[in-house]
Amino acid sequence: MKKTIRDIDVAGKRVFVRVDYNVPINNELKIVEDTRITATLPTINYLIEHGARVILCSHLGRPNGQVDPKLSLRPVLARLSKLLDKPVSFAEDVLDDSTLEMVNNMQDGDVLMLENIRFYKEEEANDPAFAKKLASLADIFVLEAFGTAHRKHASTYGVAKLIPAVCGFLVEQELVMFDKVINNPEHPFVAILGGAKIADKLPVIENLLDKVDTILIGGGMAYTFVKAIGGNVGMSLVDNTKLELAKQILDTAKEKGVKIVLPIDNIGAKDFSEDAETMKFNSAFFADGYQGMDIGPKTIKCFKKIIKKAKTIVWNGPLGVYEYEKFKRGTNKIAKYVAKNKGISVIGGGDSIAAIQSLGVSKKVTHISTGGGASLMLLQGKKLPCVELIEDVK
Ligand code: AMP
Repeated sequence: MKKTIRDIDVAGKRVFVRVDYNVPINNELKIVEDTRITATLPTINYLIEHGARVILCSHLGRPNGQVDPKLSLRPVLARLSKLLDKPVSFAEDVLDDSTLEMVNNMQDGDVLMLENIRFYKEEEANDPAFAKKLASLADIFVLEAFGTAHRKHASTYGVAKLIPAVCGFLVEQELVMFDKVINNPEHPFVAILGGAKIADKLPVIENLLDKVDTILIGGGMAYTFVKAIGGNVGMSLVDNTKLELAKQILDTAKEKGVKIVLPIDNIGAKDFSEDAETMKFNSAFFADGYQGMDIGPKTIKCFKKIIKKAKTIVWNGPLGVYEYEKFKRGTNKIAKYVAKNKGISVIGGGDSIAAIQSLGVSKKVTHISTGGGASLMLLQGKKLPCVELIEDVK
């Protein structure tokens, strides 16, 4: 296991905590949803209680290295201060000497937040001088931004390379959960994969073939598999460059005794729109001009049976075009069955999480991952660069 803030002495130390406060903010600059802030409170409170001087650093949106007042972290500052019930100071410009002065004037237990770190183009470029400047503000680096742990940016990878680095509680929990399901799952272990980006998901399937009992595939990625075995999927989303690999994966799964279950039936639409004319199709027999937009009722029933018996579930990606009301049913039903399951369930990816949250059943799943890209990388069996810089506990 990687070292966490529990494994070091933080009293009187300047602690640079890379958080992920990339929260949705509306046109009136109000925070719409603050899970990403509340999720970091245990780490921040621990550091405060143990006498650390806490420097928080985050990105917000995609300002592309330019100052954009609409993407200022000031609304987050106000919310955090309220949640912590204490004042949090704010450093407008990390490159200005005034920031170092503010840090030098901090007392034990004080909290300071830096302005949106992506206002600097040096951040995403992992500029060494910029990373050095950030590192000069602190004695210890804490990785609490799981959502950016797979990126080599200055405030994540760059700083962690220069000063002693440990995990915060949020990242620790993510690593523990993924380690548990990937390396020590209880069986039957069922993976549910959906979404459109098949190129991201095929390496996940390849990695999981040695670990899972069953893989349920839905969403746009399913049609490449259906076509690979000779089905007529009409106008459905297909990645023709992946047909061969999809076929190979199905063959390997068979050899290894892993069941890959593709949709039996689908809700097809005449075009990719909310009010398109729809029709139900057997997976292999789409009518010309129609495309698959959601899994059908027979598939939902079949997936339900398998999910019910699972002791471990990993789910990433919607089973249909979740953005449209008409094609949400499959994803919502699967969310309901996953939530009902009493085993361990780990969910990643925006749409799958949104489905669980919209049904109000988030507390019924074991773990909702805060990082889409990072969680996919772990499921692909890869290491996260920022986590790799953190020493193991001896
Ligand atoms: P991903 O980022 O790979 O998890 O993909 C998420 C996207 O997949 C969402 O925007 C969905 O609208 C899309 N999606 C899900 N099912 C389908 C489908 N049958 N056809 C096209 N896109 C889909």
